Amino acid sequence: MNPLYERMQTSVFERMSLAAAKHGAVNLGQGFPDFGWPQEVLKAAAKAVVEGSNQYAPSRGLPALREAVAAHYNRHQQLDLSYENICVTSGATEALAAAILATVSPGDEVIVFTPAYDAYVPLIRRAGGTPIEVALVAPGWRIERSALEAAISPGTRAIIFNNPHNPTGRLFDADELATIAEVAVSHDLIVISDEVWEHILLDGQQFTPIASLAGMAERTLKCGSAGKIFSLTGWKIGWLAASAELATLAARAHQFLTFASAPNLQAAVAYGMNDGDAWLQPMRERFAGARDRMTSGLESAGYAVLPSASTYFLCVDLAASGIVLDDESFAQRAVAEAEVAVVPLSAFAEQDPPHHMIRLCFAKRDEAIDAGVEAMAKARKLMT
Ligand code: PMP
Ligand code: GLN
Repeated sequence: MNPLYERMQTSVFERMSLAAAKHGAVNLGQGFPDFGWPQEVLKAAAKAVVEGSNQYAPSRGLPALREAVAAHYNRHQQLDLSYENICVTSGATEALAAAILATVSPGDEVIVFTPAYDAYVPLIRRAGGTPIEVALVAPGWRIERSALEAAISPGTRAIIFNNPHNPTGRLFDADELATIAEVAVSHDLIVISDEVWEHILLDGQQFTPIASLAGMAERTLKCGSAGKIFSLTGWKIGWLAASAELATLAARAHQFLTFASAPNLQAAVAYGMNDGDAWLQPMRERFAGARDRMTSGLESAGYAVLPSASTYFLCVDLAASGIVLDDESFAQRAVAEAEVAVVPLSAFAEQDPPHHMIRLCFAKRDEAIDAGVEAMAKARKLMT
């Protein structure tokens, strides 16, 4: 047996979604929206299933999708990409896996900022690397140059950077981006930049891809996801954007992970990426409205809610809400006794994780938010 897998827990998202189903709870744990996908993209997929190819796509992706992703980033983020820079993957999860397998060798150290998306650490270990955690501290969750520098050693090979950041809902600022870029350039590091939340920007914020900073294009593997851009998480169409050389290396890893992804879904995503960007702003406004509704409901119920201005997650400080239980115990009792599933933040770090925070997904229709808030109010009454 492989000890890596013997020691591994079932993902917190799977665990909480199974518990939500078992208890008939409102699921505010695993992040997926219950509204907002463009109907035209669904129709394009249906048409592609019936009229298009249902055989293997080229391993690096349909040329039309690779072109569309490159053009989308050139238009929105002033990058200078062509189809050679793109490798289509089965979701950003596979993009991360391919990027890590292609760049991390046994013995390499890889920096992750915690709380960190749950896939990073197991994938680094699977590649033979050692994850080095750099903790972001609530409530600011800032990247501090001194903390990052202190984590660098001669064995450091890469930094995994997630911006906008899940689970905190933070978009890192220009100073923090400059810190990552300067440290990466001066220590000659690869940056695997998980930018899946790049379009879920609330309150008029602007996104800057790390690859656009000086010296970064040649060392960055950017991961994206149609699941987030079109609110179609089940499709699992993602991609890597990188220099032609790095994209080719990652494509070699990808060909032995999944080889290729569903061609009809790729065709529909290509259609969506090309079809103009009219849905983006209305989507952001609906998410912002959902965030505000959930925040005010939770605050009225006595919860201390941290600010969130990107992704569709917000965090609640249990200790500041008068709850002395740790996050995992709260999550277990909330789902079983109050019928609401949340995600404990301690699942996102191994060393000294915060035990007093939970994450909630607000990408839900008003009825689900109201039911979730009511259940959270019940949970607070039970646990204070
Ligand atoms: N990275 C981050 C930070 C995410 O939040 C997610 C999904 N929520 C992923 C990667 C995985 O994306 P996908 O579903 O496209 O595999
Ligand atoms: N990325 C989603 C989240 O953060 C979950 C993805 C998954 O379940 N693997 O909730």
